[in-house]
Amino acid sequence: MDLVIRNASLPDGRRQVDIAIDQGRIAALGPQLPLQGAREIDAEGDLVTPPFVDAHFHMDATLSIGLPRVNQSGTLLEGIALWGELKPTLTQEALVERALQYCDWAVARGLLAIRSHVDICDDRLLAVEALLEVRRRVAPYLDLQLVAFPQDGLLRSPSAFANLKRAVAMGVDVVGGIPHFERTMADGAASVRLLCEFAAGKGLRVDMHCDESDDPLSRHIETLASEAQRLGLQGRVAGSHLTSMHSMDNYYVSKLLPLIREAGVAAIANPLINITLQGRHDSYPKRRGMTRVPELIAAGVDVAFGHDCAMDPWYSLGSGDMLEVAHMGLHVAQMTGQDAMHQCFLAVTETPARILGLDGYGLAPGCHADLVLLDAGGTVEAIRLRAARRMVIRRGQVLSESPRAAARLALAGRPPSTNFRLMR
Ligand SMILES: [Zn+2]
Repeated sequence: MDLVIRNASLPDGRRQVDIAIDQGRIAALGPQLPLQGAREIDAEGDLVTPPFVDAHFHMDATLSIGLPRVNQSGTLLEGIALWGELKPTLTQEALVERALQYCDWAVARGLLAIRSHVDICDDRLLAVEALLEVRRRVAPYLDLQLVAFPQDGLLRSPSAFANLKRAVAMGVDVVGGIPHFERTMADGAASVRLLCEFAAGKGLRVDMHCDESDDPLSRHIETLASEAQRLGLQGRVAGSHLTSMHSMDNYYVSKLLPLIREAGVAAIANPLINITLQGRHDSYPKRRGMTRVPELIAAGVDVAFGHDCAMDPWYSLGSGDMLEVAHMGLHVAQMTGQDAMHQCFLAVTETPARILGLDGYGLAPGCHADLVLLDAGGTVEAIRLRAARRMVIRRGQVLSESPRAAARLALAGRPPSTNFRLMR
């Protein structure tokens, strides 16, 4: 065996598990494996998880904070306006450089798969070319999936549909959309139909920015689900944001949730961004705006948490840490029950892996040996501590190592404290 990890805890609660890795894949997994590794790692009871997956990001905008100015109000609309000012000044080199830097951050935090939307409304398709180049360059260490995203509206922006088709022909993986940004509800629904038909014809997945609004009557998710059903796209369509669902009438939602479930449509909430951008027209009480995560999960819908933005026109914070995203999602959705907290961990690992259709993801013999060793004993503790990534492994190779977090109290007679971890 190339590598054996001893004495790991797994996200499903199994303890004292050994993981044997050979030729980039998990060869065996079980207690006290009688196998010798060329390298052996003692997990010391810590959690080993498949890597973090971000189902929703904007890599064409990331790390552009301050260009050409910062978002003073912190609102969505100033962010979109600012992005419009920035777009004409973008260069391919700068886009590639910033994206590669973000991917380095991601790897160090055990984030090894990202679905990024890329704006296709600039006729030069500069960002598309840049992110295709980034996808090629990071392929050995990070799976980057690209979504053709018509930021200015598919029907509202005259060249958007033609550009989206060009972007797909160039190799972009997924069809995007933004129905709530079209001029009318009817145009929004029409855009959903056009995009789903185009995706079905090409055999592609769909992931739309859908109903990112506090308007309870923004109901494009209904059209998206019914189109997914009509066109046989079950399991291949995601609705991103779905924030209007927060404000919808409860009776309507009770009818909507089974439709989403039957259509096999996944939901992607973006807690860091939803909690900061939604509810901005409210005085008090002020809505949180994030979609109905526990209710969607209870209805049998796959729900992932995405990072969405990091240091860009919409959000001045963020660091590629999906545990921070899970931590925020847990709080905003009030998912503090024991099972619910564990679900928040799955929302940044297994669930988005399923939404992206990642091949060979997981902790079973035959899966890729893509693993993260966390400085935590279980999934809830990992979220609580935003635990250090002791080791990040891809295809059996160690990509990144971090020391355990250790705070030593300088008080005489007190034992050293390691980030206040529970003794197991
Ligand atoms: Zn987004």
